[in-house]
Amino acid sequence: MSREQRRGVRREKERSFRCGHCRLDVPSDAFGTARNHCPNCLWSRHLDDDRPGDCAAECGSLMEPIAITVRGAGEWILVHRCTGCDELHLNRTAGDDNPLILLRVAVRPLAQPPFPIERIGNL
Ligand SMILES: [Zn+2]
Ligand SMILES: [Zn+2]
Repeated sequence: MSREQRRGVRREKERSFRCGHCRLDVPSDAFGTARNHCPNCLWSRHLDDDRPGDCAAECGSLMEPIAITVRGAGEWILVHRCTGCDELHLNRTAGDDNPLILLRVAVRPLAQPPFPIERIGNL
């Protein structure tokens, strides 16, 4: 392998990360976004502190996708909670995020209402 090729391989490694939840190799610049979560299972890792991409957090624990919220005219935002320190992060969804998992996260509260769902019929 030439020196040029080796350098190419190393650069490839720096721009990708292995998902700590499903073990997928994720290119971090996929679809032109600052990729900070796995498109397959949507889990993230607690690396950023104040701003996305600053990598200032020392925690490093896995972050679970716990909810979807909507910003502006319909942009979906993922809410991640750190399994290590309980910090919450908001992350923009990306074009290659698994739509089935996105929907599953979005409807999770509807599947587990804290009141009898039949009550809706009496309102
Ligand atoms: Zn994953
Ligand atoms: Zn954390």
